[in-house]
Amino acid sequence: MLCKCGKKAIYERRNEGRAYCKKCFTKFVEKNVKRVIGKNKLIKKDDIVAVGLSGGKDSSLLLFLLKKFFKNKIFAIMIDEGIGQYRKKSIKKGIELCKNLGVEYKIISFKEYFGFEMCDIIKKLNEKGMKVKPCTFCGVFRRYILNREARKYGATKVAVGINLDDEAESALMNLVRGDIEKFLKLGALPGLIKNKYLVQRIKPLVNLSSEEIYLYNKINKIPFYNKKKCPYAIDSIRLTIRKVLNELEEKYPGTKYQIVSFSEKIRKAALKGIGYSEAKDIEINKCKICKEPTSREICKACELLERIRNS
Ligand code: SF4
Ligand code: ZN
Repeated sequence: MLCKCGKKAIYERRNEGRAYCKKCFTKFVEKNVKRVIGKNKLIKKDDIVAVGLSGGKDSSLLLFLLKKFFKNKIFAIMIDEGIGQYRKKSIKKGIELCKNLGVEYKIISFKEYFGFEMCDIIKKLNEKGMKVKPCTFCGVFRRYILNREARKYGATKVAVGINLDDEAESALMNLVRGDIEKFLKLGALPGLIKNKYLVQRIKPLVNLSSEEIYLYNKINKIPFYNKKKCPYAIDSIRLTIRKVLNELEEKYPGTKYQIVSFSEKIRKAALKGIGYSEAKDIEINKCKICKEPTSREICKACELLERIRNS
């Protein structure tokens, strides 16, 4: 198989019916990310960007490319949830990447923030016979720390390594659950409101597949952790949807891309229909306990922490 340029191909993009050599593939990936950033105006000249870095392939590529494309101040936030060797090893890779790129990083642990590690939470709730979905706790706490720490260090954007596969899964998951509100909040520039206490999240990798990200990292020798999966990633609706999507992608190449771009079109049309043009600054409540922004009286993180403490 040959690339358009005549060199030996290393990757076939089946939905496009085109093969790429190493050099052309690298260009394709970089153009793809630049296009998402440009089209959605994700990063402005004076933005300070905090990258949520796990040390896995997605966030590692994200940090690498943002550093390559922009002169803005960029730093990394790594969160240690306390998931044994899995997280320790991925953070080690994250540190290696930050050092290679000369990027400042901060490591924040659940333990120092909340007094619990993920291992403690699962153990404690299991002992009480409570059904626990680890990702619910982990996801809420991670988001909470990322926003708070990014704001504390002056970031105006938080970049996260959500890729095409993740985004297609979320779109379909919200469809299956009939969750329109969450569906409308997807996209490269997610969320529908602005508030000075909420640092805007951005997702520059939403048009790149997991496979493409893996390959780019390998070709460009980006350090990332790729051995074990998180032991708490148990069977959930997301995993079922992932399986279905992978089958569809195999049979009908381009399915994931189509789902993401179709969702984007629906979202835009729906938001236009309700007179929404862009996120507006609004006042939002402060959590009664921690004073962080929330649409409720007590934020989700504090609510979950109470649940753990009282169990
Ligand atoms: Fe946390 Fe779930 Fe991700 Fe594991 S799979 S790191 S528990 S969100
Ligand atoms: Zn709170």
